[in-house]
Amino acid sequence: MKAMSHRSSTRAAEKAAAPRETEDLRKAGLKVTLPRVRILEILEKAGGRHLTAEEIFKELLEQQGDIGLATIYRVLMQFEAAGIVIKHNFEGGQSVFELDRGEHHDHMIDLDTGKVIEFVDAEIERLQKSIAARHGYQIEDHRMVLYVRAKAKA
Ligand SMILES: [Zn+2]
Repeated sequence: MKAMSHRSSTRAAEKAAAPRETEDLRKAGLKVTLPRVRILEILEKAGGRHLTAEEIFKELLEQQGDIGLATIYRVLMQFEAAGIVIKHNFEGGQSVFELDRGEHHDHMIDLDTGKVIEFVDAEIERLQKSIAARHGYQIEDHRMVLYVRAKAKA
């Protein structure tokens, strides 16, 4: 009985989902559920913005969803474990989440506005590799965050 209702809710979630979200969840080895589909849609719509769980919660409220904050946190943890999203714990702020678009980038945080700026710099990437190599290592992963403040206008 329980298994049956679960199966039918999965089917409902699949029907409600765009094919892309269904596909992305399946590829990540996650079952297609409505909360997962909705949260994935919001992250995809964010187009590179970095969202807190609360921001996702507010978006879902506007869609008249009844997905609670605890569920959102749980789904985000599952997404992180499955490699769909990257979680950042920038200093002085809440954790933010972004889709893992498969391309590496670093971040700058504006300390006054909280704005997140993404950047990629070939020279920095190269330097990091050579620093690690000098110590006998190869880089598996890295995070670089610059905490910045807008320059005073002259
Ligand atoms: Zn980013």
